[in-house]
Amino acid sequence: HAEEPISQSVAPPVDTFRRKKTGKGRSAKLWKPKHVYFTAAAWEEEHGRRIAARLDELGVVYERLKGNRLPRLGGSTTRETYKKAKNTLAVVNAPPGQMKLTPIPPSADWQFHLAKGCPAHCQYCYLAGSLSGAPITRVYANLNTILGNVDNYIQPGEERATSFEASCYTDPLGLEHLTGSISHTIEKFGQLGPDPSTNSPGASLRWVTKYDDVTPLLNLDHQGRTRCRISLNADWVTKKLEGGTADLTARIEALRKLREAGYPVGVVLAPIMPFPGWEESYADVLDRVATAVGTDADITFELITHRFTPGSKQVLLDWYPNTKLDLEEEGRRKKFNKFGGHKFVYEKNQLGALKKWMYREVGNRFGEESILYFT
Ligand code: SF4
Repeated sequence: HAEEPISQSVAPPVDTFRRKKTGKGRSAKLWKPKHVYFTAAAWEEEHGRRIAARLDELGVVYERLKGNRLPRLGGSTTRETYKKAKNTLAVVNAPPGQMKLTPIPPSADWQFHLAKGCPAHCQYCYLAGSLSGAPITRVYANLNTILGNVDNYIQPGEERATSFEASCYTDPLGLEHLTGSISHTIEKFGQLGPDPSTNSPGASLRWVTKYDDVTPLLNLDHQGRTRCRISLNADWVTKKLEGGTADLTARIEALRKLREAGYPVGVVLAPIMPFPGWEESYADVLDRVATAVGTDADITFELITHRFTPGSKQVLLDWYPNTKLDLEEEGRRKKFNKFGGHKFVYEKNQLGALKKWMYREVGNRFGEESILYFT
């Protein structure tokens, strides 16, 4: 491996970290981590060196570790550790265990990971229940191995392209200015079209974001094989509960740009909450999407109601002690999984009302076939 960092002129300019407000909404402030660690193994990777070049160009200082263990964060309370972790980026290699992919129904056939952790501060964060330990953001430097491994999971002989989800444990666009990983991934999938000579149906990629700086993605050779989804919610939810993300106007503008760049797009409406006035608020979101991308666009909807587990509730209350998020167990129904654990979901009547309304209102604007699932 070359000792000098690979120059990467696509890295954004240094004033990137300022939050921009235009007539098109309030963009997310791009993350500038206070502490960055590079493991020795990550430094050996071609993509690790590309990340280093981006950090150099952005003026982000990093520490090269002699080995592959991250230092302890310290922090005398969970909240303090949380704050430190959320300011820390680790450039590491995905462990070998991650090359054994797992299915992710109903979203995709398989999931793989470009990173674990996220710089945003959503007070209902899905990661609170699924990742353990301090929420340091780890980005993976062994991208060549991760993307090479995808080929092993394409199912020959199938009629439909094998689908892959890349955002189960992170928000890839929130890290793109530091890594370039989702751009590389989109281009890789652009090359994974059907191949009759090997009986391969090809592969498709899906990922989702609450960030809005899609500029680096607009000229990629994506070949329509990547569905870019934006996570949306009622305006007040994005402002009050989704710290560090782009506002609703900026996200819808990002969706419009992605559509214009020829990507199939999607909306993940989540977490849906029946707060007072929810019908008007969600109708407003759907109207704005329809205005931005048109009603006959190649667009899908994933509709996910709010839920929490006893474990995620505790973690979230430690992280966000003053949250306005409704985490009351009263008025919720326990839904058990096959391992005996449970989550708290809305009561059947409430869930039924939400589902009926969503199918009608999304259906009226975009056709019911655009809805992939409601849960
Ligand atoms: Fe968590 Fe997703 Fe919000 Fe990031 S964007 S904090 S992963 S819910």
